[in-house]
Amino acid sequence: MPEQFNQGDTVEFNDAYTGELTYGRVSRIYGGSMMISKISKEEAGPNPKRFNAQPGCSYGEDENGTPICRLHQTPLVAGLVGSGMNAPGPGHVRGGVCQVSSKVVLAADGL
Ligand SMILES: [Zn+2]
Repeated sequence: MPEQFNQGDTVEFNDAYTGELTYGRVSRIYGGSMMISKISKEEAGPNPKRFNAQPGCSYGEDENGTPICRLHQTPLVAGLVGSGMNAPGPGHVRGGVCQVSSKVVLAADGL
């Protein structure tokens, strides 16, 4: 089952570029995508929810800008709804759930 996250949840995940453990707070959710604001470990507290990013699955977009799993070449579940709402920017994370692995895949912009 895909993990469930709610607005305001504190999460931890490995940075898409550096692999470092990173903390964030879910600031917005639409469809299967969410926007995460980066926060410090102290702000995250003792019990952040863990993103189980599957190593084999990675975030990609097709020619229409639809989020897909690069490994499985399948659309992420409930991909971006109105992609204009999710402008890339520092501290923002895009993601969705791979239909094949049911794992959350993420792409971080400027983290
Ligand atoms: Zn996948």
